[in-house]
Amino acid sequence: MVSLREVPLSGDKLVDWIFKQFVFFLRKETLAVKRKKRLLDPDNLHRRVIRGLMQPQVGPGGHGIEITINSSRSIHCNRDKEAETLIHELSHVVFWKTWERFIGQAENILVEKFTQEQKDFLKSFLPRSESKD
Ligand SMILES: [Zn+2]
Repeated sequence: MVSLREVPLSGDKLVDWIFKQFVFFLRKETLAVKRKKRLLDPDNLHRRVIRGLMQPQVGPGGHGIEITINSSRSIHCNRDKEAETLIHELSHVVFWKTWERFIGQAENILVEKFTQEQKDFLKSFLPRSESKD
């Protein structure tokens, strides 16, 4: 396992601090990232299709976090787009209890500020396979 000192950096201290937070959580055994073709909002009565989902307090003892990315090509045309949604869901983890609108703003800023190398690094945490459940 490489240390947080060896992750790709952008040179912007705040951006890199957030990036390291993301990597810290991604490497935790209690955080799981899944990809799923048909992803519906569990909190919406009409069960609308969503890009991604962050579910805290799952698994043994309720200490786990599960991030699910919609892998349907009609939602994300490639893995770069999936990585943008991963940035969004990780922002929900790091900026806990922050309004959705602000998370959307954080996503837009980070997508612009992260280097391609940083985005590729995050992409490496997206599993190749799709999950059924
Ligand atoms: Zn969100």
